[in-house]
Amino acid sequence: MVMRKQSCGMERRCITGVPELVRSLPSEERALFDRMFRVTRRSGRLILPGGMEKGRRIISHAPQGWQQIVRITNLVTGESTLFNEERARRPFETRSDAGVRASIEETRGDAFCHPEESTPLDLFGRVRGRHALTASNMAKYDHLHGVIIFDEHDPLVWEEGRIEDYLNVGMGWFMKAREQDPEARYPLFLWNCLWRAGASIVHGHAQVLLSVEPYSAVESLEKVRSSYNMKFGHEYETDLIDAHRALGLAMKRKNVEILAYLTPVKEKEAMILSRDYSSLAGAIAYVLHAYRDLGVQSFNLAILMPPLGEEGIFTVRLVDRGEPGIRSSDIGAMELYARTSVVAGDPFRLMEALKV
Ligand SMILES: [Zn+2]
Repeated sequence: MVMRKQSCGMERRCITGVPELVRSLPSEERALFDRMFRVTRRSGRLILPGGMEKGRRIISHAPQGWQQIVRITNLVTGESTLFNEERARRPFETRSDAGVRASIEETRGDAFCHPEESTPLDLFGRVRGRHALTASNMAKYDHLHGVIIFDEHDPLVWEEGRIEDYLNVGMGWFMKAREQDPEARYPLFLWNCLWRAGASIVHGHAQVLLSVEPYSAVESLEKVRSSYNMKFGHEYETDLIDAHRALGLAMKRKNVEILAYLTPVKEKEAMILSRDYSSLAGAIAYVLHAYRDLGVQSFNLAILMPPLGEEGIFTVRLVDRGEPGIRSSDIGAMELYARTSVVAGDPFRLMEALKV
């Protein structure tokens, strides 16, 4: 393995400096980090033939054609991410921000702008809040699947009061859905914002599901918690927060922890951890404000929740899906089949934006 000296240091931390950062931790913190994460850094090299001026510009800050690739693996969950900042400098065909705004405006007046007349109801009717109401999903993922339709067409919503209302409406829907099928007790809250994130309708909306079997991510998280606790006698999430805090990648806001996650599924992934559903709205709004400042427009959000009626940890994951005007997908065979995500952004920069 060949290594290069790092340009970042203790003053400005960066993902390529994580091996040194971990080595500099006090022994207890380092032991905790090492049992949760494996970090490697290797250099990729290339030779540019003459005339590749465009390529030369892409790697201009990396002398002699070096590219540093850091791989971080969460040894507990098996999640693994390759970080290469060079990838962020690749040229893309993009649509202007004005083009994205125009696309949002030209769909104004859609079915979700008139939900009472234009969307189906669940068997139990609609759940209504101050800023949203529910509809039954027209083409369901699963047998209990609702849509939370926001009262604002523009899906880029950041206000805490609105988000709190969407979450309350979601909880109201879970309760009604459980009355419809008492065997269903695993809730899932999803928010796909804009087409890059998989939303087929531009109008602001979130989705709610209540299942009889837990979805895979919820089931595997439950297994992770129990095996981690058996092996180390600690709660997985408590140690996950401490490992991130040791590197400066965790922050606390009221009773909620926000992490710039070390093994993100894609760009700028933030993880919010709380024991209390009602505290989530403030933290989600906080992350979305940081996202807005970073220029994020399209994102996925999921809330992994304990079964209805049980205590537990709520895990919110949010990820940037890239510029809405970019034609190429941010997810390819690496993410789908190698289950190792390729990420350009640096979690330390996300934490800087969160702490502003
Ligand atoms: Zn609309």
